[in-house]
Amino acid sequence: MNNGAIIVTGASRGIGADIARELAEAGYNLALVARSADALQSLAEELNGDSVVKAWPGDIADFETAERIIKEVHDEFGSIFGLVNNAGVTQDGLFMRMSPENWKKPIDINLNGTFYFTRAVAPIMMRQREGRIINISSVIGVTGNAGQANYAASKAGIIALTKSVAKELGGRGVTANAIAPGFIATDMTEDLPEKVRTEMLNQIPLKRFGEGRDVAGVVKFLLSKEASYITAQTLVVDGGMIA
Ligand code: NAP
Repeated sequence: MNNGAIIVTGASRGIGADIARELAEAGYNLALVARSADALQSLAEELNGDSVVKAWPGDIADFETAERIIKEVHDEFGSIFGLVNNAGVTQDGLFMRMSPENWKKPIDINLNGTFYFTRAVAPIMMRQREGRIINISSVIGVTGNAGQANYAASKAGIIALTKSVAKELGGRGVTANAIAPGFIATDMTEDLPEKVRTEMLNQIPLKRFGEGRDVAGVVKFLLSKEASYITAQTLVVDGGMIA
C-alpha cells in the first residue's frame, strides 16, 4: 500500500463518507474535503487512528481553493498518491424549463470542480511519477436522462476529461479512471417518489439499490497495486442496470 495521502472530495456524507471509511480501514492517510466543516471534522476524528485523517473544509467549485487545499495537503503529508473527485450535486428540471443558472450549477461543481482539483494535483503526481485519479461520474453520464440534462452533461464531461487526462499523464505513471455508479441509496436519491424507486428497482438485475460501500470498494481496488495497469476506463457499478 502507498503511504501518500488520498484526497476525497464530498466526504461529509453519502458515498464520499463511505469511501473515506473504506480507505481509512485499509490504512490510507486521508484528506477529506467538503463545505460542511462540522460533519467533515467529526468524520475525520472518528476515522483518525492507525491512519492519519484530516479535514479540509472548502468549496470545490473554486480553483484557488483547490490549489490551496492541494498545497496544504502536500505540505502536511509529503506526497499525494490519490485524488478521488466525488463531490457532486443535482439540479433537476425539464430541459425546456431549464434556466441558465440551473444549467450551470452541476457544471460548476461536478465538472469544473473535478477539473480544478485534477489540474492542481497533476504537477505533483507527474513529479512523483505515480498517482491515481479516480473521478465519480454516473450512469446518467453514459445514458442521459429526462430531467437531468445539466447533470448528465457534467457527468459525461467527467468521463471525457478522465480519458484525456489518462492519455496525457500516462507516460508519467499517473492513471485516471472514472466510476459510473447506478442508483446508490444516499441523500441524493432519498427524495425520489416511491413510484420512481420501484420502477428503477425493476430495472436492476441484482434487485437491490447500491450502497456507498459498493462504490467505495471499487475506489479501493483502483488505488491498489492490482489496478496499476488500468487507465482511461469507466467502471460501471450499477447492479447491471444499464447493461
Ligand atoms: P450526497 O449524499 O448528496 O453527497 C454529496 C457530497 O458532495 C457531500 O459531501 C457534499 O458536501 C459534497 N459537495 C457538494 N457540493 C460541493 C461543493 N461545492 N464543494 C465541496 N463539496 C461539495 O451525494 P452522493 O449520493 O453521496 O453522491 C456522491 C457522488 O456520486 C456525486 O458526484 C454524485 O453525482 C455521484 N453519484 C451518485 C449516485 C447516487 O445514486 N447516489 C449515482 C451516481 C453518481 P457539502 O454539502 O458538505 O459540501
